[in-house]
Amino acid sequence: MRAVIMGPPGAGKGTQAKRLAEAFGMTHLSSGDILRAEKASGSDLGRKLKEYMDAGALVPDDVVVAIMAEAIAREAAGGLLLDGFPRTVAQAKTLDEQLAKLGKPLEMVLVIDVADSLIVERITGRRSCPKCKRPYHVKYLRPKNDNRCDDDATELEQRSDDNEATVSKRLAAYHAQTAPVIEYYTRAGKTPVVKVDGGGSPDEVTAGLRRVLERA
Ligand code: AMP
Repeated sequence: MRAVIMGPPGAGKGTQAKRLAEAFGMTHLSSGDILRAEKASGSDLGRKLKEYMDAGALVPDDVVVAIMAEAIAREAAGGLLLDGFPRTVAQAKTLDEQLAKLGKPLEMVLVIDVADSLIVERITGRRSCPKCKRPYHVKYLRPKNDNRCDDDATELEQRSDDNEATVSKRLAAYHAQTAPVIEYYTRAGKTPVVKVDGGGSPDEVTAGLRRVLERA
């Protein structure tokens, strides 16, 4: 299965993508994770990325497309779950072209639906393990020991863009630039677009998504 998982910031895309990829044997490719790794490397490109990401703005299409195309080419033959990409209609068109050339078209677009009113609390409470990337939330997905990863006891971190000031910008970018991608796939009619309620607990959302993929 080659699928895209979409939804507003804080919808739980990363958490859910990790779980689904494991359960359904897909490679999880997160554009945010790939861009954060480049940012952390301190390269010239990384410094440029930081400006956009810390401001809650989208990274320019050509930069993201170049980075993602390489990873997608490597992984498209097997199961693939794209998380955070495509985030603009231009990115979606480029992805379609690349996958068509590879003869491996997209088979499903999953959309996690969450009301804007829930987003701020979800995002500002997010934490993750810098070592194994396991996601947590101070209220909804708590670690067993205070602020330490259940798997490797590493101290949890908060992303630099997970603050209230940046959230509203990321949400605005989502409505202006990413929501039209859902419309694009719906109109094109080639790939089923399935919306899942993302308002429940992480386990409830996983159950909803699993039902969709099991039926596919
Ligand atoms: P995420 O981890 O998906 O929330 O992404 C974090 C940040 O990385 C976003 O706020 C953007 O600045 C950048 N980013 C991730 N994916 C993309 C993309 N497909 N296009 C543009 N910017 C992106």
